[in-house]
Amino acid sequence: MLKEKIRELSGQIHSDVIRLRRHLHSYPELSFEEHETSAFVKSELDRIGIPWKPVAGTGVLATITGKLPSDKVVAVRADMDALPIQEMSSVPYASKHPNVMHACGHDFHTSSLLGTARIIQSLKESFRGTVKFFFQPGEEVIPGGASHMIRDGVLDNPKVQAVIGQHAMPRIEAGKIGIRKGKHMASMDSLFVRIIGRGGHGAQPHLNIDPVVIASHVIIALQQIVSRMAHPGDPTVLSFGKVIANGAINVIPDEVYMEGTFRAMNETWRDKAHVRMKKMAEEMAGAMGGKCEFRIQRGYPFLVNEEKLTEEVHRHAADYLGEENVLDEDIWMAAEDFAYYSQVVDSCFYLCGVGNREKGIRSSLHTPTFDIDENALAMSTGLMAYIALKQLGN
Ligand SMILES: [Zn+2]
Ligand SMILES: [Zn+2]
Repeated sequence: MLKEKIRELSGQIHSDVIRLRRHLHSYPELSFEEHETSAFVKSELDRIGIPWKPVAGTGVLATITGKLPSDKVVAVRADMDALPIQEMSSVPYASKHPNVMHACGHDFHTSSLLGTARIIQSLKESFRGTVKFFFQPGEEVIPGGASHMIRDGVLDNPKVQAVIGQHAMPRIEAGKIGIRKGKHMASMDSLFVRIIGRGGHGAQPHLNIDPVVIASHVIIALQQIVSRMAHPGDPTVLSFGKVIANGAINVIPDEVYMEGTFRAMNETWRDKAHVRMKKMAEEMAGAMGGKCEFRIQRGYPFLVNEEKLTEEVHRHAADYLGEENVLDEDIWMAAEDFAYYSQVVDSCFYLCGVGNREKGIRSSLHTPTFDIDENALAMSTGLMAYIALKQLGN
């Protein structure tokens, strides 16, 4: 039986996959600078005899075609980059690179996918179809390595019919996954706003144009984009996390600078909201005697899990893990560049539990104390292999 065979193989390679993960964790590299990581992935693929080619700079595309005839193709994806965070941990495999850390679990994704590749390679004689392995660069920063992978043709020759991805999730206990059909994660755009007035003495506002008051109005008014203009069924978030009015108690500054994030789950609405936000901020500042420069940096699109594929992945996961270990996820307004795949080909992205309350492993993603319960690797390697082979009709 395929399931039993995969379980056995994932057990056999478990300690080796932990070794891979610890190596990657010790030597993290920032987005689009994954040179050593990429070399490590390539050497591991060489060691297990899987053909690969470089793609998208530091990315790697590996392919395994089963012996039985089939033209079906499924892709499985991992991202490889780390974050500019100083790790605060005493584990022996803590980051050896100052201010760089695998705090988003991409070391887990990469080592897990190498394990999955090894399992599938062991079954090469007995399955039908082709599995492509995407080891992609730069998930954490715009424009996102996924867009480069697609640009460089990873979805073609042979044409991929489905892409499967996973993300480490400490909120979920190791041994379980979370999955959601349909819209799952948000699009993300960065806002850079400069409100320009005319500074002066705080005691003489009538002689100045106060950009602080204008900026305050603009922040409040822009929330109407969310509360009054977004369709109630379209999740939308607008947050300003940076507002700098660098005057003093009695000094009105010349300008106020703000940065924020806009998130949505509908590309048509997203475009419309961009126009409205800009117009509202500029005209409001103008009406109050000031000026506004409103710049939007476009980030990732929203992530949608194709319904039929996701139902199938859910079924395979329940079969492999037990139904009680497959949790339903809510929408999540974070962004992920896996969304690029989901915009052009049937895709499914699930959250893989890596937390363990008893062991005290619960730090959130992107924190200096993030870690995983490595037992999750025994499940994640086999699960992804099982899902991929089942999708190919095995
Ligand atoms: Zn991240
Ligand atoms: Zn991530």
